[in-house]
Amino acid sequence: MVITSSISIITYLSYFLLTPWGSPPPIFLSSPLTYLQNALYTSSFFHLPTLVLFLAYFGFTVLLQYILPGPLVPGVVLANGKRNLYKLNALHTSLTIFSLLAGATLFFGGADWVGWVYLWEHYLHLITALNVFCLSLSTSLYIYSLRPGPHLLADGGTSPSPLFNWFIGRELNPRPLLSSLDLKSFCELRPGLTLWIILNISNTMHQLRTTGGITDSMILVNLFQGWYVLDSHLHEPAVLTTMDITTDGFGHMLVFGDLAWLPITYSIQTRYLALNPVHLGPLGVLAVLAINGLGYYIFRASNSQKNLFRTSPSDPRVAHLKTLQTKRGTKLLISGWWGISRHTNYLGDWIMAWAWCLPTGFGTPLTYFYVVYFAILLLHRERRDDEACERKYADDWAVYRRIVRWRIVPGVY
Ligand code: NDP
Repeated sequence: MVITSSISIITYLSYFLLTPWGSPPPIFLSSPLTYLQNALYTSSFFHLPTLVLFLAYFGFTVLLQYILPGPLVPGVVLANGKRNLYKLNALHTSLTIFSLLAGATLFFGGADWVGWVYLWEHYLHLITALNVFCLSLSTSLYIYSLRPGPHLLADGGTSPSPLFNWFIGRELNPRPLLSSLDLKSFCELRPGLTLWIILNISNTMHQLRTTGGITDSMILVNLFQGWYVLDSHLHEPAVLTTMDITTDGFGHMLVFGDLAWLPITYSIQTRYLALNPVHLGPLGVLAVLAINGLGYYIFRASNSQKNLFRTSPSDPRVAHLKTLQTKRGTKLLISGWWGISRHTNYLGDWIMAWAWCLPTGFGTPLTYFYVVYFAILLLHRERRDDEACERKYADDWAVYRRIVRWRIVPGVY
């Protein structure tokens, strides 16, 4: 309950603590409780039309998954020996949404288009809508997982505590609406990630409306984060071998993470820049570009290498790599990116995180929330994956650990 409430409160704080007169504002620093009490009493939190609009948006992304073309791809072999089929068309979905938004912006008023103004003005209502939606969805999924029948449960989601199971996720691959819609992989890549970029654009439009221009820092954060999302859609098959899909249940942790936490807290940088424009200048731009390029290279190369190895091990790009044969039947890479450390992909992702925060300058610590939170997430994730692999591979994992000593940062950790 503490974690559930805290993550929800943080989404609200990201609204109340980012202001044009300080982030956090001086009055919060001198009297935090009074400031938050005032905010609580004077703000309108719930607005039914915003919730309805979000539902329409969610429904539209479901519809696009159905009507747009995309190959049906099998996921990894599950504990019951079966493989689920996934329709992969996230890229088509997001390109359709962004084309529609670009058209609306071009033909209906640019930065003044009613959609951008609405999103900015109803931001707090959107946060509530996302919170309400996520609580309802994760509770419905928990109840759905209690039905009789042969459906796979996640290893971690069958503890004696129903509340824990609700949070961590009981069922592995729930498909409650239609058997072809895998809700977990759908939410992992579509409505939340796309909403994140939509919020970034809305924040950029606010900067344009209020200052008449868009700063270099705002352009960089938009490009980096927009590319991150596009890249995840371009490499959609890679999601099928991630821990979220293969191991974790679909509970409140993932539902909230995908649909509320991610779009709200990951757009803190552009929201801050919308309220406090920062000009980096050519040197600042080059430095940030270099950091992002390095992080992206490590992130993409390592993730693609593992994905290719898992899906097409005889591909010449991975066939030469050294491997460790395990009793489980699969092999583990012990050279290439996965021989440098056990999660170089996390290191690349974290380096990129810095490039997303540095453009906001040093006027507030709040925009650096992402690097701190993300470091904690990745450290915790690495431990969870390590335990899961220990369960999967038993003695072979101990051998792998001895060969590849470092967890994330070679020579350091
Ligand atoms: P990984 O892609 O790191 O996959 C871990 C799995 O890979 C293991 O469970 C194991 O599964 C397999 N594996 C581990 N070691 C080896 C090896 N040596 N050779 C072959 N296979 C191996 O999992 P994540 O889902 O944690 O991360 C994917 C990406 O998503 C990362 O880049 C991460 O940074 C990013 N991410 C981003 C988040 C964000 O909010 N921006 C949140 C979470 C992740 P098996 O052996 O069963 O195949």
